[in-house]
Amino acid sequence: MIGAGAAGFCSALAAHELGVEVFVLERDSIPRGSTALSAGLIPAAGTRFQTAMGISDNPALFAADLKRKAHDQADPALVDLVAQQAGLTVEWLADGYGLPFSIVHDFDYPGHSARRMHGLPSRSGVELIDRLRQAADQRGIPLVVNATVSALYADAEHAVRGVEITRRDGTRDSLGCDALILACNGYGGAPDLVARHIPEMRHGLYFGHPGNLGDAVLWGGELGAKLKHLSGYQGHGSVAHPHGILISWAVIMEGGFQVNKNGERFSDETLGYSEQAAIVLAQPDGIAFDVFDERIAAIARQFADFRQAEASGAVIEAPTPALLAARLNVPQPELAQSFAEIEEARRTGAPDRFGRSFIGAAPLAPPFEAVKVTGALFHTQGGLAVDRAARVLDTNGKPLPNIFAAGGAAAGVSGPRANGYLSGNGLLTATVLGRVAGQTAAALVKQRTLASG
Ligand SMILES: Cc1cc2nc3c(=O)[nH]c(=O)nc-3n(C[C@H](O)[C@H](O)[C@H](O)COP(=O)(O)OP(=O)(O)OC[C@H]3O[C@@H](n4cnc5c(N)ncnc54)[C@H](O)[C@@H]3O)c2cc1C
Repeated sequence: MIGAGAAGFCSALAAHELGVEVFVLERDSIPRGSTALSAGLIPAAGTRFQTAMGISDNPALFAADLKRKAHDQADPALVDLVAQQAGLTVEWLADGYGLPFSIVHDFDYPGHSARRMHGLPSRSGVELIDRLRQAADQRGIPLVVNATVSALYADAEHAVRGVEITRRDGTRDSLGCDALILACNGYGGAPDLVARHIPEMRHGLYFGHPGNLGDAVLWGGELGAKLKHLSGYQGHGSVAHPHGILISWAVIMEGGFQVNKNGERFSDETLGYSEQAAIVLAQPDGIAFDVFDERIAAIARQFADFRQAEASGAVIEAPTPALLAARLNVPQPELAQSFAEIEEARRTGAPDRFGRSFIGAAPLAPPFEAVKVTGALFHTQGGLAVDRAARVLDTNGKPLPNIFAAGGAAAGVSGPRANGYLSGNGLLTATVLGRVAGQTAAALVKQRTLASG
């Protein structure tokens, strides 16, 4: 497999379980990928972790949430697959490889009708990728680092027979293969591809892994693969600026709000953090402030990123809205008006002027807190069209002979726009499709080995 992120390691572990020889090829010296930049949260329905917390959920409910968020533009067969298999995949990682998942149980993610985000103790993707790498190490799966795959060797039927690897010093090697899994994420790190396919983010910060340069879609295009939903992406409207640290959307979902530099609110923030990226970037200077309070900060502190933001001085505190306005350098009357507006919505239960409901939210109480944020592109959601077996499809919908894709290399389940991204869709397709790709590729290799005697 190409790429040592969540998708690459899940596919490697699954293929290795079936007894085939596996190599993971990775451009970097230490596997990190966008997986390490994430909070490491995987949505899954009907797991024993949910049952233990008394959370009622099931794959059908999860599939309905995915379809609704993607405005029915995602492939329904793929949605059903990932919704059905996410629970199995999380339990497979927990039981087979010792990943100690627990549920994020103290706030709701937008669009999820049950609490189903599964994370590791630090709530960080570094822990996820490190644990996956250790699991692969322990099973003796070879990881070849500093190995950029620079070309694929394919025959006339578009079956891949091997890959070219370019080393740091420019030397090149070749490696043969019976099947190839593309787990090298999308094209968020390729400004020309972003400008072409996602023009609204061409001037936005790219907050994903810089090594994700679109190789999967470029190779796939050459091999006649169908490329799908290339305008789809995961954005985020809450990256601390200029610190460059993700601020969990918990600060909003628990009753916080965003204002622009004029102290004014500008949206219903609860629709989703992904679409909020472009909305924040459209504000003066592309800047907003997350405004919340100490109770909410205590919830956000479960995330390593938030703790780091506090340590870096990104979180500003004040005892009154007026002092907060002064510390943020935003106009005091407008910020006071924004506080009054959401308090009114909370008290009356009527939606605010953007349609956001504050029913059930606790009133914001001193000390108040705020973080200056901007919008960013996290990763692309379009990519190679795959079927339920993670086989890459050609433009006629027929599987290519031996190429599979998972994670950001494959077209995801978010449809063609940022507002189709349901929280967790990234690691959902990285882990579930990764495992499926590993299983299917291994089955193909074994079948061919048997056939050749
Ligand atoms: C800040 C941030 C927060 C996020 N939070 C979440 C979250 O909480 N939950 C969630 O579901 N999703 C989240 N995401 C999205 C999620 O991180 C990605 O969708 C997921 O990690 C993709 O996994 P992957 O294995 O496909 O790619 P990656 O983890 O990016 O791995 C791809 C690997 O391929 C390597 N590679 C690329 N090209 C080549 C090549 N030619 N040769 C060799 N190697 C190559 C790269 O170096 C990289 O290591 C977040 C993303 C970001 C940026």
